Amino acid sequence: MKMEIANPIAVALNERGAKTAARMGLRVEIGKPGQIIDDNWSRDSALVLVMALPIVVRLLAKRKLSKDGDPVVVAVDETGRFVIPVLGGHKGANRLAADLASRNGGTAVVTTSSEIAGVAAVDGLSGFAAEGDIARLIESMLEGRTPIIQHEIEWPAPVHLQNGIGPARVIISDSKSCLNESSPPTVQLIPPSLVVGIGCSSEASAEEVSLLIESVCLENDLDRRAIAELATIDTRAEHPALVGQHLPIASFSSAQLASIEVPTPSAEVQSFVGTSSVCEAAALLASGSPTLLVAKTKSCLATVAIARRRPKGTLKLVGLGPGTPMMRTPAAVEAIVNSEVIIGYEPYVEQCKELLSPHQLIIRSPIGSEDDRARSALEYASQGRSVAIVCSGDPEVFAMASITFEILESRCLEMGISSPEDLVELAVIPGITAGLGGGALLGAPLGHDHAYLSLSDLLTPWDTIEKRIHAFGEADVVILIYNPKSESRTWQLPKAIEILLSYRPRNTPVAVVRNVGRDAETKEIFSLESFDAKKVDMRSLVIVGSSTTRRVGSYLFTPRGYEI
Ligand code: SAH
Repeated sequence: MKMEIANPIAVALNERGAKTAARMGLRVEIGKPGQIIDDNWSRDSALVLVMALPIVVRLLAKRKLSKDGDPVVVAVDETGRFVIPVLGGHKGANRLAADLASRNGGTAVVTTSSEIAGVAAVDGLSGFAAEGDIARLIESMLEGRTPIIQHEIEWPAPVHLQNGIGPARVIISDSKSCLNESSPPTVQLIPPSLVVGIGCSSEASAEEVSLLIESVCLENDLDRRAIAELATIDTRAEHPALVGQHLPIASFSSAQLASIEVPTPSAEVQSFVGTSSVCEAAALLASGSPTLLVAKTKSCLATVAIARRRPKGTLKLVGLGPGTPMMRTPAAVEAIVNSEVIIGYEPYVEQCKELLSPHQLIIRSPIGSEDDRARSALEYASQGRSVAIVCSGDPEVFAMASITFEILESRCLEMGISSPEDLVELAVIPGITAGLGGGALLGAPLGHDHAYLSLSDLLTPWDTIEKRIHAFGEADVVILIYNPKSESRTWQLPKAIEILLSYRPRNTPVAVVRNVGRDAETKEIFSLESFDAKKVDMRSLVIVGSSTTRRVGSYLFTPRGYEI
């Protein structure tokens, strides 16, 4: 189950509430709250109601509530001091509340029992739908009794669930009837394991396709919630009958489909679209499975076939921004809350701790050992798990993204695979790098061309760094100096400044920004001549102006060349 908490809609009753919502970085609507709630009432939406809890309760009481169908609802008092998950705690409301509270120095008031006890819940797990005696299973886990894990299909159990002694039981299965004969308390976790291949004529409707899928699932004892994606021929990928199922759609050319051997080829289909099978071939291709679970089944205008896919892991490289949650993107929040395994250098894991929950495996790594961190992330992802590597700032900028790709490249070579996507699904989630955060703090020093330079000679020989300083000096670009200093690297920064003095005027501005976006944020402006390297440590970034960078008050800017 994917949690759509990255894009909540805030509803406020007045300007004060709207300001609070805006401070939390939310899109806010003021007006008739009942109407706004009605318009956005769906299981995939998230609502932040900025108003007193009794008003929230009265507004919600008018609606038909159901655990599966409710949106995520969070209440916030008008000043933002208290943030209360009301509905969908395990679907994301708890973590949305924690995220919002952290943006405003407030407190999240979480009341669900598993969170209170620090035990992971089994409902609302990213990647699984859950069915069965959830409350009793959680109760027995709260009493310290771990459930027996039973795999009906090959799919990794949630990372926090260790096989225990029961009597509670967790069954990993995509079958519809697996709970019928089991003695309670039993919970079925339904993974996204099915791929439904679909062929249809141009007149087919979404309703017909939906009914066909429903009846095929019923006849074959499959749970519809296990459908991960649909697969079809490219000419049908945007057909309303498929789009109307609201599931991801994989599509293939007729040549791709024709290359697959299927149990039920059709000469008629061949004559129309140039491949003897659409639904069976598409299901096999998209699932990567050599066999079908359900062969072609027809309705009047559509055909369906089903295959089971292997779990495919995801690996996300997530930029957290320089410090404050206000400079963290919603995409980063979503990637973190939807990942099962979170790996990062210890302070970076701390930087997003309010987003973490007991169902996740959290790996806090020591400094250095970046290649081990990337290897271990890749290992979990290749077991089919969703993994996030968290980095401060941006993951590309002197951080984990490039080493991860390097290791992926070597793994592909070892395994004879042409592309890393065949191993895991990858995504890089950008963040505000220290340079952008620091630049903003100073005004607009990055208004014209600029260059990023790391002064760390741990991996790059000093000769190379020195050559680049000369080149940047000569190019007359603003220079962002990352890793300017550490306890053991102290002489490099004065040396860099000395080199730059040979290219730029002595009064060229040089700024030191320290702890950008964190509590102890500072900025100080020097010139190349008056620069004091003692003011710099490993939490600082040094920004050296170009020959045109100027100071105005406590700000710096680099003109772009307009005539004023
Ligand atoms: N990926 C990070 C950079 C990591 S390298 C990013 O995009 O920002 C570590 C160096 O980045 C530090 O030595 C320091 O020079 C700089 N840095 C990282 N966070 C910073 C912050 N909040 N304030 C100032 N400098 C920072």
